[in-house]
Amino acid sequence: MPAATTGYLDYNATAPMRPAVAAAMAAALGEVGNPSSVHRFGRLARQRVEEARAAVAALVGARPEQVVFTSGGTEANNLALAGVGRPAVVSAIEHDSVLRAAPAAARAPVHADGTIKLDALDDLLGASAEPAVVSVMLANNETGVIQPVATAAALARAHGALVHCDAVQAPGRIRVDFDALGVDMMSLSAHKLGGPQGVGALIVADHVTLAPSLRGGGQERHRRAGTENVAGVVGFACAAEAAIDAIADMARLGRLRDRLEQALSGLAPDLVVFGKDAPRLANTSCLTMPGVAAETQVMALDLAGVAVSAGSACSSGKVAPSHVLAAMGANHAQGGRSQADQAIRVSLGWATVDADIDHMIDAWGALFARAGAGSKTRTAA
Ligand code: PLP
Repeated sequence: MPAATTGYLDYNATAPMRPAVAAAMAAALGEVGNPSSVHRFGRLARQRVEEARAAVAALVGARPEQVVFTSGGTEANNLALAGVGRPAVVSAIEHDSVLRAAPAAARAPVHADGTIKLDALDDLLGASAEPAVVSVMLANNETGVIQPVATAAALARAHGALVHCDAVQAPGRIRVDFDALGVDMMSLSAHKLGGPQGVGALIVADHVTLAPSLRGGGQERHRRAGTENVAGVVGFACAAEAAIDAIADMARLGRLRDRLEQALSGLAPDLVVFGKDAPRLANTSCLTMPGVAAETQVMALDLAGVAVSAGSACSSGKVAPSHVLAAMGANHAQGGRSQADQAIRVSLGWATVDADIDHMIDAWGALFARAGAGSKTRTAA
């Protein structure tokens, strides 16, 4: 385990870069060439990009020409929803980059376990005057809950809708197959896999006509203009190859996650684990410390050397209420605060070891004891 990742339990925010990725990127950064140039330097850069495209396609069982490289999951989601020019229907628990890319979208609610209500999706699609684009994520970033995407896609197709899937949190954690899911577009992000930040892809089925959001040169088959991020996509490819093997490590991570949940539930029997009864990513736990605000937990755990997240909207450096937990009905008062306000997300990954979990259990237990064992609402220092 690299010492730099000790206590890091926030893989759903970003995963530590794999050493092999850093090495591949360093080699690529040592080369010169614009992939659009015809001389030998350009041809080498083109070769690097096309090899990377094949590796990213293989991660999800797609074909290389279906891969549009982007600046990340956010751009991929925006491109998908804006690019097809249809009214959108999205699940209520999508990432902000979907919700804000389609602010007028109808939102399909979810069950208390965090899975989409398919009958509600059916009704919304039935009510849409024009063929829609549906966006349902594969695995939720806050709870890890895995959505029934193949079923939702079949239902959407019956209404003549196109289907987009934000699969950013899934590869390397569960097997992802573009064709088997029956979706038309799929978003990926390199940094959730141990690749670089600022690189992603939209996988696009052949029959989808996509209007580019970025206009300029004819790169990416006219679907995304701009000189390719050669070193970035090389790193993405290396991470994608590692992610295929990483699935074998999920059983180990699942045992660590379950041990954590059991230990903390032993300390606080009232603790709630969101999405516990649904299919979940084995690396993710979204759980409450009864009576203690999530921000307090995040800060106190950080002081104790453990890095976790609270809420979803941490992009601004602030903790915002979670629309995901609210959609799951987590608004019941508990100790004077809502359960959603007391929920933190713990997410594990390739460099997580037993000692990280032991450390988390000790730090959490000490904080809970200081906070009065959840008997009252307090803000623990
Ligand atoms: N979609 C989901 C489900 C995510 O968790 C994230 C990242 O937090 C994104 C999209 C955005 O990806 P990126 O950070 O590459 O823009």
